[in-house]
Amino acid sequence: MNPVMQQMLRMQQIDNDIKQLEEKLSALPTRIQKLRQEISHRVVALEKIEKDLAAMATRRRNLETELKSAESRLERFRKQQDFVKTSKEYAAITHEIVSASENVSRLEEEILNLLESEEKTARELGEKRAAAARLDERDSAEIARLEEYTAHETELLRGVREDRIAAFNALDERYRPNYELLFKIHGPQVVAPARQEACGGCMEILVPNLLIEIRVGNIVVQCPRCRRFLYYEKES
Ligand SMILES: [Zn+2]
Repeated sequence: MNPVMQQMLRMQQIDNDIKQLEEKLSALPTRIQKLRQEISHRVVALEKIEKDLAAMATRRRNLETELKSAESRLERFRKQQDFVKTSKEYAAITHEIVSASENVSRLEEEILNLLESEEKTARELGEKRAAAARLDERDSAEIARLEEYTAHETELLRGVREDRIAAFNALDERYRPNYELLFKIHGPQVVAPARQEACGGCMEILVPNLLIEIRVGNIVVQCPRCRRFLYYEKES
């Protein structure tokens, strides 16, 4: 193979490596961010349950205070009942006792219902906390792994970019601008094999003379259509 073609193939290999590393690296921040979001969504969900639970407890405490005053009200009426003189007074106080007693029962029931809800919510919270802790641990480990991987691949990319500078400097000066121009157009497919009598880049059929020159390899040949540099590849 023509030595210039060998130099360009080396460049192309490096450019391919750079492209692959860049693609790999560009996908990593999104993955890390997604995991971080999942962790923070779980935190928010737990905080909401905690808030609900606190609100229930506050409401229950208020009801308990209300219950105490309702009970003493009932107690007061019962004591008054002993001292009534007329049947009219008796009927009135009895009415008050029934009403106060109903109020006490209603409050007691409401408090019991709330207690039950609080217990259920607290149990749910405990289960969700445990599940979230497991998932957070898993996701945090994955984030750490991806960050480590990012650092590793970034370092690798830095090294490959240095290799590219060296390979570019090793490339015959006359072909450097052309390589870079074609690289801008085709990406890391500047060099293509002549395959089945056609350019492996654009599939243009090559005339026999050109094919012979490519096979002999004394001169550097470019595809007349896409301008890619061509090398001879043995048919398999
Ligand atoms: Zn071509």
